[in-house]
Amino acid sequence: MLPRRFELHRPTTMAEALNLLAGFGDEAAPYAGGTELLVALKARVLHYGHIVDLKRVPGLRGVREMADGGLAIGALSTHHELADDALIRARLPAYAELSGNVANIRVRVAGTLGGNLCFAEPHADPATLLCALGAQLRLAGPTGERVLPMREFVLGEFTTAREEGELLLCIEVPARPAGERAAYRAFGHLERPAAGVAVAAVPEGRGWSWCIWVGAVSGRPVRLEEVEAAARGLSGGEAVQAIEHKAALAAASLEVHDDIHGSADYKRHLVSVLARRAAEACLR
Ligand SMILES: Cc1cc2nc3c(=O)[nH]c(=O)nc-3n(C[C@H](O)[C@H](O)[C@H](O)COP(=O)(O)OP(=O)(O)OC[C@H]3O[C@@H](n4cnc5c(N)ncnc54)[C@H](O)[C@@H]3O)c2cc1C
Repeated sequence: MLPRRFELHRPTTMAEALNLLAGFGDEAAPYAGGTELLVALKARVLHYGHIVDLKRVPGLRGVREMADGGLAIGALSTHHELADDALIRARLPAYAELSGNVANIRVRVAGTLGGNLCFAEPHADPATLLCALGAQLRLAGPTGERVLPMREFVLGEFTTAREEGELLLCIEVPARPAGERAAYRAFGHLERPAAGVAVAAVPEGRGWSWCIWVGAVSGRPVRLEEVEAAARGLSGGEAVQAIEHKAALAAASLEVHDDIHGSADYKRHLVSVLARRAAEACLR
């Protein structure tokens, strides 16, 4: 099916893009790689009279180091670019690995990180690891810029805290704590993940302090604080056992639904398996 008619705008400055979005209100949508938006327009699930193509707006691509040593990732960076980016590979190897495993090569070369986060399709990978890394999102709107923690951005399926007329500029990942190891493990029999678990471990005493997030199984990523607490300070093997066991208990109380990616029980089982694998990967 062809999409209903729309007017395509191709602004060349940020101010022009924001003016277009402010002027057309809910009749307009930003357009990045189009891998979600075009499919939804063609299926006529969504319709906008005005599409604002961001590709000519400068400053939205690439990765740069911030003054505090963290990394700012331009919202229009594609998954493929991020998987290959030298700074991402050196500082956030778990994120580079995640990016290289998103979807398939056709989606990775066109699909952007910003589009992925703003669309908020729950069966996605980046938000879960970005939550575990304490990332923040920088947005620009008619009244200026604001910064929002990643963990507050996704509100539910296809729903974010982005306000009408706002653009996601970049994703800021703070400098990593000394000795941190992070890993993300996901599984699904379709192209998108049925479940994904992100784990970050920082040395603490004789053991580790853990940050564990699970994604794709419900509308938004969820932190497993009770699992983190149970594993805190334990030595490697003990911590991994505790994580697998407690993640199974925690998964039982998550709001998970049956869908084409699997039954709720299957996805709950995946959570504990993936939590163990991610924790093991951290300690390897
Ligand atoms: C076959 C297939 C398999 C996939 N598999 C996976 C997978 O395994 N894991 C995974 O995580 N994802 C997966 N995806 C999702 C994929 O990552 C996204 O489609 C892609 O990243 C979206 O980016 P885009 O630039 O194409 O967004 P677009 O389609 O251009 O936009 C998506 C939405 O975000 C809005 N938007 C885009 N950029 C901005 C911005 N800067 N500011 C504000 N709003 C913006 C648009 O208005 C639109 O609503 C898959 C997609 C497909 C089609």
